[in-house]
Amino acid sequence: MPAAVKRTLEQALSGIEGEFSLDTSALNALVGRFHELMDYGLANTGADMAMIPSFVTGVPDGSETGTYLALDLGGTNLRVCAVKLNGDGTFKMTQEKYKVSDTLKQGPIAHLMDYIASSVDTFLTDNAASSAEGLDELNMGFTFSFPVEQTAIDRGQLIKWTKGFNCPDAPGKDVIQLLQAALDRKHIKVKVNALVNDTVGALLAHAYQSGGAFIGAIYGTGTNGAYVADIDDVKKLTIHGDSKPSHMLINTEWGGFDDDAQSRHEGAGLWVTSYDNYVDRTAIRPRHHCFEKMISGMYLGEVCRAVMISLIDRLLLFGGYSSTGMNTQYGFDTAYVSAVLADKDDTASKESATRKILVGTMGLKEEVVSAKDVEAVRRICSIVAIRAARLSAVPIAATIRHTGEDKKQGGKEIKVGVDGSVVEFLPGFKEEMSAGLVEMLGKETAGRIQLGYARDGSGVGAALCSLMAFKQQQAGHV
Ligand code: BGC
Ligand code: MG
Repeated sequence: MPAAVKRTLEQALSGIEGEFSLDTSALNALVGRFHELMDYGLANTGADMAMIPSFVTGVPDGSETGTYLALDLGGTNLRVCAVKLNGDGTFKMTQEKYKVSDTLKQGPIAHLMDYIASSVDTFLTDNAASSAEGLDELNMGFTFSFPVEQTAIDRGQLIKWTKGFNCPDAPGKDVIQLLQAALDRKHIKVKVNALVNDTVGALLAHAYQSGGAFIGAIYGTGTNGAYVADIDDVKKLTIHGDSKPSHMLINTEWGGFDDDAQSRHEGAGLWVTSYDNYVDRTAIRPRHHCFEKMISGMYLGEVCRAVMISLIDRLLLFGGYSSTGMNTQYGFDTAYVSAVLADKDDTASKESATRKILVGTMGLKEEVVSAKDVEAVRRICSIVAIRAARLSAVPIAATIRHTGEDKKQGGKEIKVGVDGSVVEFLPGFKEEMSAGLVEMLGKETAGRIQLGYARDGSGVGAALCSLMAFKQQQAGHV
């Protein structure tokens, strides 16, 4: 082997670290690119970063009351909930989770909708006592966590699927009409009156629970954010009459940030590595939501696996041996990345969590995993996680700058409601993200940002949206 080609593990790892690292000026360049794409999406329909009007024109303040049904589709499970809003920022929730099989996720949309309708039916039967009491005409908010071109608070066509879903006949169809038809077929007396993205739900739920919110962000199976936009900034929306609202929540769909790789050819925009390209090429929708593929729970483990496989192939990791688990797409789950990063045991210990995952779960032979390999795997997980956290800070910083929120309201706190498995379970994620925010916004502004958990955002948010829709529908606008 020519000497120039043979690298040590240490050399290879520092090369990889270099490829994944984003310094302050790289982060600021991404903020600039984000602003261009925000403006483009606010003025045009059909953008990759779609900037979708939600038709929600205000945020709750905690005084809302009533019981509403909520449906949550788009993360790990399907959930049906009955949410009782107590009017003091607290709520009582009854919920049931239902599994959605891969067959349903990728088959005809009518099958998925029928399954959802049966789940609602089961829920109502099982929870008759708790849900029937106080229900306002069984109104239901539907948290549907995919890009939908909304035309009203209860109307919207699916633009495209993301994450693990791919029902081929759904894009272009009205999601609420499909669901309502499935409920009607089963004679279930529920009216779906609001369509909510989970980010909008997170924002509303956070506002209800903590007296206000400016951004709702999800770092879970996928990633995305919504914010409160000044209506005049939403150039593509024409609202007639004197009922023109001052603000509207915008679902950015930032997972599609910089999907048009054009700026990359000019050396700007998102910097993707060959590992990211591998993950992208082999995903069900290549060249879509590349930013999401660098950040969210569905893909982070896969990025780590791509790096490990490459080091195995270069005979630098595990003595060049792999395993069936290691060779399986999505075989290295993001939950393992969290476990590896939480592992503080001696790298030589047979009991370390990292070694147990590599040997016990991934099926590598005990004797091929050295202490150095364990150390290397920890480093790889950390490199990938730190980049994810720093990238995650970009849309937050960009949104705060774009809206001028950093200049507004005499130093008032900027509330961001977050939810999702990555922000909740990936060790160090919030800290790295906060450090990135300080670099981009400066200590003063970053210090005003309050990152808080939007507890049960998809359930409570959908209930709140159903309530707001009910009021809007009664008042006769939108
Ligand atoms: C979807 C968004 C959603 C996000 C988080 C993305 O894949 O496009 O609509 O908000 O995942 O669930
Ligand atoms: Mg969710």
